[in-house]
Amino acid sequence: MRVVMKFGGASLKDGESIFHVANLVKKFEEYEKVVVVSAMAGVTDSLIEAATKCYKDFSSSFIKLFIAELTKKHYEAISTAVKNPDIQTKVFEKIDKLLDELEKVLLGIGYLGELTKRSMDYIQSFGERLSAPIVSASLLSIGVDSVALTGGDVGIITDRNFGRAKPLPEVYSTVKSRLDPLLRIKKSTPVITGFIGVAEDGSITTLGRGGSDLTATLIASALDADEVWLWKEVDGVLTTDPKIVPEARLIPEISYQEAMELSHFGAKILHPRAIEPVMRKGIPVRIKNTFNPDAEGTVIKRESNSSKDIVKALSLIEKVAIVNISGAGFDFAEIMSDVFRRLSRERVNVIMVSQSSSELNLSIVVDEADIDRAYSALKPLENGIVSVKKMDNIAVVSAVGSGMAGTPGVAGRIFSSLGRNKINVIMISQSCSEFNVSFAVSKKEGKDAVRVLHKEFELEKA
Ligand code: ASP
Ligand code: MG
Repeated sequence: MRVVMKFGGASLKDGESIFHVANLVKKFEEYEKVVVVSAMAGVTDSLIEAATKCYKDFSSSFIKLFIAELTKKHYEAISTAVKNPDIQTKVFEKIDKLLDELEKVLLGIGYLGELTKRSMDYIQSFGERLSAPIVSASLLSIGVDSVALTGGDVGIITDRNFGRAKPLPEVYSTVKSRLDPLLRIKKSTPVITGFIGVAEDGSITTLGRGGSDLTATLIASALDADEVWLWKEVDGVLTTDPKIVPEARLIPEISYQEAMELSHFGAKILHPRAIEPVMRKGIPVRIKNTFNPDAEGTVIKRESNSSKDIVKALSLIEKVAIVNISGAGFDFAEIMSDVFRRLSRERVNVIMVSQSSSELNLSIVVDEADIDRAYSALKPLENGIVSVKKMDNIAVVSAVGSGMAGTPGVAGRIFSSLGRNKINVIMISQSCSEFNVSFAVSKKEGKDAVRVLHKEFELEKA
């Protein structure tokens, strides 16, 4: 059995949890294992914050303090998670070197007053580059042969779209040629930095927030692994966010398609782009709880009979906005292609689109962070007939379930129950796959809409 296991930041809180992770990995002695890690909890956020601060209001004492805190966090982790003094010394040296490099980069940003997307990726990469050697050393110290490698080392080559880089097609063969011998011949357990890749010119890139999942599934697909295990601090995928609905229930099995829809619409299951590499080969992905490893978790796999629920889960995205283009008497295709070309040029993250056919009326939901760019990119289309407007404070609710396809009346049930509860729907979208009905409401009604539908479809009951 060959398994790719990914540990997210919450599993790597401190030295104690890293040591727990190492022992967990060791348990699967008879397996061929690849470990993919995120940065330690909170580190990526703190790196982004620090970089932004250095660029905006630079002070060398802030950098000293920041590096001191990061040093303390990682030193503590080493002291607790790495039991052998010789191995400890080596990993201390490695971490010192990295932190030294990071300090110089931050000073550079400060002096130059310049923070490009490329340097932002470089800075973010330190989170995983610091955590991987520690996890690897922890494994070594308990007798598991291991080596720490970066995404670039194993052949995760990407384009230069910094911040959301895309792996190139040749990744699969490169990763296979670099990792396969390590597993088969050396019987080693490599620990690989998630989230980061390298462009052909050698620049470090990142795959987007939460991108370690994609690293794990890419590697699994390249190595024809039997399974991917995403270790988190929850038991698996729930019917909805328990902070919104306390009765939310664990879902034992969902399909790739359902997981993808849910992740796209804000559920933190896995990186939406992470499904594609495993879907091609039908490799199951298991969500497991690091701190409750005996729980079955949720399996994401090809469609099965038991996954025929009408509505299986509900997700909510709260930080979105709408840009609306309206007018009359146009060539739809022409104006649409212009609209989307403009949005793509500005790299706007489009979440949902809906178009009415009687006249031109195109509503586009985008990330709140992108709305101003989207609006100014589309504003020039206004010409007296076409008008462009934006709406802030929007939430998108998405109901997902493969059993919706071919079951009549689901949309009817959704919207009449919302109507009965006086929740006003602003925009609706349903894809032809019929796995998903999504709609926009005002931000303040988002959570209520989720509660109403969770009840309506009796998701609290097993
Ligand atoms: N450390 C990165 C992030 O926080 C990648 C990941 O966790 O998957 O987004
Ligand atoms: Mg993280």
